[in-house]
Amino acid sequence: MADRLVIRGGTVVDGTGAPPRSADVLVEDGKIAEVGRVDAPGAREVDADGLLVTPGWVDVHTHYDGQVYWDPLMTPSSWHGATTAIMGNCGVGFAPARPDQHDYLIELMKTIEDIPTETLRAGIPWGWETFAEYLDCLDRTPRAIDVGVLVPHGSVRMYLMGERGEKGEATHAEIAAMAAMIGEAIDAGALGCSANRTLLKDGLVPGSFASDEELLAISKAVGRRDGTFQTNAASFYGPEEWVGYEAETDLMRRMSLAGNGMRITFALIEDHQYPDRWRTILSRIEAANREGAKMRPQVLARPLNAIMTLAGRHPFDRMPGYAEATAGVKNTADLAARLRQPEVRESILSVARQALAERAWFFDTMYEMTDPPNYEPETSQSIGAEARRRGVPSMDLFYDLMTAGAGEAMFLAVVANYAKGNGDTVLEMIQHPDTVIGLGDGGAHCLGLCDVTTPTTLLTQWVRDRTRGPKLPVEIAVRELTSTAARAFGLYDRGILAPGMRADINLIDLDRLRMGTPEFIHDFPANGRRLVQRARGYVATFVAGERIFADGTETGARPGRTIRKQPVREPA
Ligand SMILES: [Zn+2]
Repeated sequence: MADRLVIRGGTVVDGTGAPPRSADVLVEDGKIAEVGRVDAPGAREVDADGLLVTPGWVDVHTHYDGQVYWDPLMTPSSWHGATTAIMGNCGVGFAPARPDQHDYLIELMKTIEDIPTETLRAGIPWGWETFAEYLDCLDRTPRAIDVGVLVPHGSVRMYLMGERGEKGEATHAEIAAMAAMIGEAIDAGALGCSANRTLLKDGLVPGSFASDEELLAISKAVGRRDGTFQTNAASFYGPEEWVGYEAETDLMRRMSLAGNGMRITFALIEDHQYPDRWRTILSRIEAANREGAKMRPQVLARPLNAIMTLAGRHPFDRMPGYAEATAGVKNTADLAARLRQPEVRESILSVARQALAERAWFFDTMYEMTDPPNYEPETSQSIGAEARRRGVPSMDLFYDLMTAGAGEAMFLAVVANYAKGNGDTVLEMIQHPDTVIGLGDGGAHCLGLCDVTTPTTLLTQWVRDRTRGPKLPVEIAVRELTSTAARAFGLYDRGILAPGMRADINLIDLDRLRMGTPEFIHDFPANGRRLVQRARGYVATFVAGERIFADGTETGARPGRTIRKQPVREPA
């Protein structure tokens, strides 16, 4: 006798983009058996009257590669309705890994993704060398939600090329070996491959300078297996003279075509200095996709931002003299008091005035965070605008606000997607047929970002509350978080509430849904800190029919599995 769960009388938003409808959902043995009217009672019945019933979210861009070993809930993703998380992004990760490269891979993760070294050292069990062994280790780790993994090009390169992997040019034989190893990883279950071509001042990811030949050979191996290629494009943004976005877009087009229509995904943002460029890039993508490429840029469903606060990251924390001036403080309140001392304030601000002289605009796109956070602030609410009203320098005002009281104020430093000073660009990006919502970076940038909570912004701010322009229809928001995301990574068994699909389901009280303000918690190994945001209003989350959260409280269920890529083509 099948284990029957009936979710009764909810408002089903099924993930296809179809309008909401009132229906029951029958779940049998972890899969959806029926969506419609279910007369027979289930062994378990859940009353969903007044609630949205949606597929669980697919969080396509995370860095839980280490966290997966100490946090079975994979938070904050699961707190915000994710039932699948994809890791191994951005060319960095922990498999394959030679025993003498563990420290290197941890340092690389720290450099690129800002996850504390001590936390990773203490938290990763290292019971593997090959990618297949890594997946086997994941299988033995209990968890609440599903994980899919991309094999990082950077790790493969270091494994095969040793120290030369960082910057060296691969030989023909090494390229063939890399393509073969990535192919084997997908055969073992990887969803695809990730690479990173971002040019960073203080560190390069192995493969940043990989030749076209290398990337095309890998693309063939990935595309042949219906894998997805996630990459960070080099030089998409910044001044005209050093960007190569035309060449880079064209390279990704060729990679997709070489992989016989391989899916390739990468970040697309609106650069405030060059606000038209994202449209130019997108129109090239449209043209390439008409020609048979499958380019699907990832967009962030809110303005690209960093969180600035005294206890985390802020503009003064790495300036000369700051460490000395704040030595010996015991806590954030103490730090705030020290920084308010007139001679300390003046010495730090005088250094900062020089250092930030060119970046006065920074405070014009900086906003004090409210509760709940507002991701579409009026530009008149910026620190710069307020400083002009008060007739004081904006940096001084920011300093004083940040160090006031116990030093708990938080600020949203908006760095992209907000050139118009409203959410129109973000909504346009989300609704474009070639994009997918991503870039949440779950598990990474522990002290300065929490964009993994974006699904809740999508529902509260863009679907429910927006007053500054058109809202986003709920069925579009849900479709983008579910089926669009799943398909972008070759997952065809989830993301839609329909018979035969996995019973990954959210029950959401949209009226009550609320985003928390960012807060620091100390729950990482080696007492590591991280910035999280919680949410209220997710009434239940089910993974394969098992309830993992009941009104925000975890149930202890661990139905999450490691996804093994099935060698199938996308259904027509
Ligand atoms: Zn990333």
